[in-house]
Amino acid sequence: AAASPSNFIRNIIDEDNRTGKWAGRVETRFPPEPNGYLHIGHAKSICLNFGVARDYDGVCHLRFDDTNPEKESIEYADSIVDAVRWLGFTWEKNGTSHQYFASDYYDKLYAYAELLIERGKAYVDSQSADDIRANRGSLTEPGKNSPYRDRTPEENLDLFRRMKAGEFKEGEHVLRARIDMGSPNMTMRDPVLYRIRFAHHYRTGDTWCVYPMYDYAHCISDAIENITHSLCTLEFEDHRPLYDWVLAELADAGVFTRPLPQQIEFSRLNLTYAITSKRKLLQLVTEGHVDGWDDPRMPTIVGVRRRGFTPEAIRLFCDRIGVTKVDSWIDMSVFEGALRDDLDEKAPRTAAVLDPLKLIIDNFPADLSEPCTAPVHPHHAERGQRTFPITRELWIERDDFTETPPKGYFRLFPGNKVRLRYGYVIECTGAEKDDQGNIVAVHCNYFPDSKSGTEGANNYKVKGNIHWVSAASAVPAEVRLYDRLFKEAQPDAGGRNFLEALNPDSKRVVQAYLEPGAEALQPEDRCQFERHGYFVADRYDSKPGRPVFNRIVGLRDSWAK
Ligand code: ATP
Ligand code: MG
Ligand code: MG
Repeated sequence: AAASPSNFIRNIIDEDNRTGKWAGRVETRFPPEPNGYLHIGHAKSICLNFGVARDYDGVCHLRFDDTNPEKESIEYADSIVDAVRWLGFTWEKNGTSHQYFASDYYDKLYAYAELLIERGKAYVDSQSADDIRANRGSLTEPGKNSPYRDRTPEENLDLFRRMKAGEFKEGEHVLRARIDMGSPNMTMRDPVLYRIRFAHHYRTGDTWCVYPMYDYAHCISDAIENITHSLCTLEFEDHRPLYDWVLAELADAGVFTRPLPQQIEFSRLNLTYAITSKRKLLQLVTEGHVDGWDDPRMPTIVGVRRRGFTPEAIRLFCDRIGVTKVDSWIDMSVFEGALRDDLDEKAPRTAAVLDPLKLIIDNFPADLSEPCTAPVHPHHAERGQRTFPITRELWIERDDFTETPPKGYFRLFPGNKVRLRYGYVIECTGAEKDDQGNIVAVHCNYFPDSKSGTEGANNYKVKGNIHWVSAASAVPAEVRLYDRLFKEAQPDAGGRNFLEALNPDSKRVVQAYLEPGAEALQPEDRCQFERHGYFVADRYDSKPGRPVFNRIVGLRDSWAK
């Protein structure tokens, strides 16, 4: 199997394969809670879990970790299915789907809890939530045993069954593991396994009023599904002894056989200029700071998809950042760099004028429309040529003309010559202004023997080379110029209010003119607008005859110092 050097997890699997621990079996899982849309941090976990399974001829389960009734929904679950598929992964193997729901295990989870009670390993605690918290102790103080800790299994079983039957109010009782209130690891101080919640669950409805806690449900779900390597983020390191405790107790009780799934932690992805907390992303949406979960500025999978990122670029990015145990920040430029590397090869080239200014070639015949050609891709002649006309009136970029050129400015100014890319050399003669002194058109003359690709072209040495589109055949389009959503690298660092770091210029909408042919691009088709960057036809808003493009990323990193 392929091993990226930084991927210590693959080293563990290689070692397991060497010792025969799992008889060569590799089964991982990606366990999202369907309480929001997935974000780029999840993509790291997806690429890791599904990538490992693929490379070792194993399988990765898509498991909905849906044990919190309050915030989960089918809408979120569906969006997760779409996101994982779009990223290029599958949970099917040999015709079997490995999509699971932790909520399908409620019966088993409950039965195992009764088993733990019978074996003296769990008890019903009737302290108030405040007392439970106070008696947990602290990092420097051991906890205090609950006065209910020594209830008999019979008494516990009776109370737990009545909890399930709905006889008690929320918070009146909880089920706790009976481990060690003096443990230096706070997680092991008799953690809560079940609590009462009179909440409607999106799949099980009102069947249940006791719900399992994450630490209890997760390890058991892994064991039920025969997971070999359970990969999770570093904050669960302290929970690993509990993961192992629950499974060992149930193995001792004869429920599971050894070897038991192994939890392995890796560092979560922190990406600069982005936020990877579902709660904060939800806040951006509900408070209207962005146009929904799939706003192209959002670091959600639906957001980056709509922005124009490719699954290949996201996978390339995840490969490049690797998997370690060291918490760190990855710079947004690494993400954007992977995208440029992917799109530079793929994206056909086209001309687009985003801030149009009229250019009039005074000595060009008014009724002439002359074809010009350019490569679809500069490094791939086999992809052919594009053809577009040059005419007397063109659109050029407003900032490709100035009346007062600063030093080093080689584009259009009165008296200067430039090449119209794939067309002719022109010489600027002046500009027209309106009453307010705004420039409304630039005038020039062309040199008929200077056309690109002809003998005569070599006689002209000019430093400026600007793009243009014929006014007569240009395709008008809405272009959304997206930039980073935050203007600071770590918008939520140090508990700061991340809303204050929002970039007020993260979205600008312009009316542009595109090279003819651009109207044929289909939603989600990507291209390079020469000299500008990479753009995508908007997945939802781009329509035949009314194209809408999103800027994915510029050609260069304009944020680098
Ligand atoms: P959030 O904190 O945004 O709510 P979460 O971890 O609670 O995220 P889950 O739906 O439980 O969200 O995540 C599913 C999986 O994705 C988990 O295994 C989790 O560890 C992993 N994951 C979540 N965020 C990141 C991240 N930033 N980097 C790597 N993996 C992540
Ligand atoms: Mg979670
Ligand atoms: Mg969370």
